[in-house]
Amino acid sequence: MNAVDSKKIWLSSPHMGGKEQYYIEKAFESNWIAPLGPNVNGFETDLEQYLKNDSNVAALSSGTAALHLGLKLLGVTRGDEVLCQSMTFSASANPIVYLGAEPVFVDSEKTSWNMCPEQLEIAIKDRISKGKKPKAIVAVHLYGMPYNVEAIQKISLRYDIPVLEDSAEALGSSYFGVNCGTFGDIAILSFNGNKIITTSGGGALVAKAKKFKEKAIFLATQARDEAPHYQHSEIGYNYRMSNITAGIGRGQMEVLDAHVALRRKNFETYVSELNDLDGLNFLNEPTGYYSNRWLSCVETNSFEMREEIRLGLAQENIESRPLWKPMHQQPVFAHNKSYLNGISDTLFEKGLCLPSGSNLE
Ligand SMILES: *Cc1c(COP(=O)(O)O)cnc(C)c1O
Repeated sequence: MNAVDSKKIWLSSPHMGGKEQYYIEKAFESNWIAPLGPNVNGFETDLEQYLKNDSNVAALSSGTAALHLGLKLLGVTRGDEVLCQSMTFSASANPIVYLGAEPVFVDSEKTSWNMCPEQLEIAIKDRISKGKKPKAIVAVHLYGMPYNVEAIQKISLRYDIPVLEDSAEALGSSYFGVNCGTFGDIAILSFNGNKIITTSGGGALVAKAKKFKEKAIFLATQARDEAPHYQHSEIGYNYRMSNITAGIGRGQMEVLDAHVALRRKNFETYVSELNDLDGLNFLNEPTGYYSNRWLSCVETNSFEMREEIRLGLAQENIESRPLWKPMHQQPVFAHNKSYLNGISDTLFEKGLCLPSGSNLE
């Protein structure tokens, strides 16, 4: 990215720590240039030790692949309905459709910008009353801010609907001291180029149940039965992470906490420099919430104000972007059901993501 335009200030660009090439060298020396090998196992162990809470991690080719397999492991299948946070990136919802299931969108709450527990319960009751109990809940820690874990978990238990925790943007965030990526029945991480750490492209599935990790790896490597020949009793996927990219991940894990600290400092700088201006509203951390501040975001007073800032920055060769357009507003999901309170619409209208990379000066 930087090579494309070295003077441009990006929203979030890759930031290497230094040891990444060392791990890639090791892969070359041992000729492990494959979707398995010591870096893959090492990266999984690094993540398990970082996340704690009995995490079992399967390194995969992308966060989207992890969502796809996660939904499959939770039993989502053709014709099912899956509740999904509307205010998110499309990759949270697309894998529901890959499985022939139907996303039903749930609006956000003001305090975290993430899934509104009230709307979630309204949606569940309404779907059940129509004879269609949802199969899973996809909740997202957007921009690194944890969702209301306690409330969502209570609802998940009350109605016995599992949670798929989309922690793609929240590695390094925590909720009352417990790491994001360890709350859902299954959670996912992303290491795409713009995320808090990157493997140039990659993701992971995280589960407390070891059998989910094993099944994820089985499905991600073409679902090969144990036999000397190629034999398959299930449809498989080619979703495993390669030993080369896992090497980048190992190097990145060594600087994860330092990069979280730098991103949090970016946010504090924005707040301290801009807080006196009228019409800018930064999202505070509620008590017990710890955000990696993957992206620093601000809600302005109006669409016009937001656009004035965005276009002004663009003139200075500085990238910024409106907050993610909610899924219920996306043309591709125009016919899907949704349970709305207006909050994500307002955020999309007035909100802006500011340059947030850990390599910003
Ligand atoms: C990036 C992202 C994903 C998808 O991860 P990839 O590794 O890019 O496939 C899913 N959900 C959210 C919220 C994301 O930001």
